[in-house]
Amino acid sequence: MTITAAARTGHRPYKLLVVVPRVEIALELERSLGDAPLHVYTLTGGAELAPRAVLDLSPDMVLVHLDSLAGADRKAHQDRVEHLVRDLGEGTALVLVSDRSRSPDTDEALHRGAFAWLGHPFDAEEVQRTLARALNASPGTGGASAGGTGGPDADPGELLRYGRTLERLYMAWQPLFRAQDGALFGYEALVRSDEPTCPSAWHVLDLADRLGREAELDWHIHARSAADALAGGLEGVLMINVSVRQFMAGTLGTPRDPLLPLAARVVLEVSENGTIEDIEAVARQCARLRGLGYRVALDDLGTGPDYLARLLALEPQVFKLDRLALADCDQDARKRRYVRAIVAMAHGEGALVVAEGIERPAEAQLARELGCDLLQGFLLARPQRREHWLHAPPAAFSLPPGPSRAGDRDAA
Ligand code: C2E
Ligand code: MG
Ligand code: MG
Repeated sequence: MTITAAARTGHRPYKLLVVVPRVEIALELERSLGDAPLHVYTLTGGAELAPRAVLDLSPDMVLVHLDSLAGADRKAHQDRVEHLVRDLGEGTALVLVSDRSRSPDTDEALHRGAFAWLGHPFDAEEVQRTLARALNASPGTGGASAGGTGGPDADPGELLRYGRTLERLYMAWQPLFRAQDGALFGYEALVRSDEPTCPSAWHVLDLADRLGREAELDWHIHARSAADALAGGLEGVLMINVSVRQFMAGTLGTPRDPLLPLAARVVLEVSENGTIEDIEAVARQCARLRGLGYRVALDDLGTGPDYLARLLALEPQVFKLDRLALADCDQDARKRRYVRAIVAMAHGEGALVVAEGIERPAEAQLARELGCDLLQGFLLARPQRREHWLHAPPAAFSLPPGPSRAGDRDAA
């Protein structure tokens, strides 16, 4: 029994695990896939290893030939379909293959939870249509049932664009520095893609959101971030952005979580424009993730609704002050008082405060004077690919000592 990572199809964003009695069937399938954005993994022989392979590969879909299902009789055969559907879980659709004639066996398999049936020899159009449907219906891929528009009616052009965006996804790493001595504290990973129509984090997130695929995108972001960190030997902490929804329902803290081996170095930055409905549930998830080593930051403090609920639920170890909170703070005494109060509150809870979006030396100076512990912004370092920082590690940040004039005025 062998698993063949079909690198021959190149790097494709969606993963399809194929379980067939003979490898030729998998090759035929690949030919009928054409340009579909799928990466095919083939398991030849019986289907017993499929659940294990699913854990290792996290495929988006599993396709099983009925002849690969061991079983002494038809009932045992069908029981195996049912077990397989259960083992794969809700996030992974099972598509069955058998010879061309549809039979009571295929009908029974569908009844037991298989998503669809494909006849063999394959018809390319039917294969592509069925797999697209399975991909879109799978909650694990953030499909239609996740509430998005990525269901069967999704614009195929958008799906392909999204596929290319995932294929060319990368993370830009922005350093954070300690305010006191300018030493490197860690990096925030920010999503980017080389797909020309999706150049910014906003474009990538918006496209996934419109197609109902945030869960899938998050998984790819986490996998990419972990791979970057592990390949480069992570210096300091890694700050990862995550929406409340994914914080609660994504793969974080599950066996599929790509960040788990790094959890003790990861700070999850939680931000979303929604509201927290269930403070207790978020608090429980927070405690669970902390138990695994994760730390939690509250992102974009100073914008958005719902901050009391967020504070109560997340008990963050890091508060990130949005750039709006500090922009022009040197000109505005009231803003400075607010920031001081937030910093005092954070410190009272034993949390660190990050001043984000520092663009001017005066802002850096003031952030330090107001008690912020960490600084981040274009003035200090712009987000760059991981390789950039590996070749040219960020130098410690330095500001001339001495209070800003605003600090003087407040003290007077
Ligand atoms: P954020 O987490 O608050 O990230 C900070 C944003 O401010 C980043 O924009 C960063 O490039 C930008 N920034 C950093 N320093 C400065 C500065 O000095 N001046 C200005 N004007 N901007 C600065 P980006 O990368 O476009 O990300 C925007 C937002 O998109 C993020 O805000 C975050 O909410 C979201 N986001 C980015 N990457 C990810 C991701 O991987 N996953 C998730 N779920 N959300 C992400
Ligand atoms: Mg952030
Ligand atoms: Mg922020």
